[in-house]
Amino acid sequence: MLKIGLTGGIGSGKTTIAKVFELLNVPVYYADAVSKRLYHTNKELMESMKKHFGEDIYTGDQINRQKLAAIVFNDAQKLQLLNKLVHPLTIKDAQQWMEQQTAPYVIKEAALLFESGSVAGLDYVIGISTPKHLRIKRVMDRDGVSREEVLARMNKQIDEGIKMRLCDFIIENNEQKLVIPQILELHKTLLSLTNK
Ligand code: ATP
Repeated sequence: MLKIGLTGGIGSGKTTIAKVFELLNVPVYYADAVSKRLYHTNKELMESMKKHFGEDIYTGDQINRQKLAAIVFNDAQKLQLLNKLVHPLTIKDAQQWMEQQTAPYVIKEAALLFESGSVAGLDYVIGISTPKHLRIKRVMDRDGVSREEVLARMNKQIDEGIKMRLCDFIIENNEQKLVIPQILELHKTLLSLTNK
């Protein structure tokens, strides 16, 4: 079974494209969604979070995301600490999930695939390349946030051009190219690679 990463910048279309792969019966692991869930399901993580970010980072067993974001957004060291607590748990969870799958290939969707080190153990990585102006507009529409807010989030991630150079396959999600035919073609390629 091949293990494939799927990544791209904020608003590039990772979730949308991953859902199309799911329609083709490809199991998809949504790393960002899982890490959000771990904050209130993993007791060990909850304890470390309280220890490092204060008891009031939780209300009951719910993490206070706004408070956490406010702490880590402008403090690189705190952000690094947060990543060190969460990423290894997500990587382990993804590995356990992958071991249970029986499909010819599986996909791990993650925004910070390279940054978090969760690229380790993957056979190939698909990058989604989407022009910046489209990503900004789509995230503004999707989340109801301002252009400045989107730009601030984007500036926290590594440059998309650099990210794409690290990928084995690229899906171009722009207004000139249709996405579905590219996914079908890639699906065929990946299935053929599983037989080698
Ligand atoms: P994030 O990094 O913020 O989680 P993402 O990479 O998962 O984002 P999506 O949520 O899949 O991106 O896409 C961002 C928005 O753009 C969504 O509202 C989605 O419906 C829209 N979108 C994605 N691809 C296309 C497309 N080809 N045509 C039109 N809308 C699109």
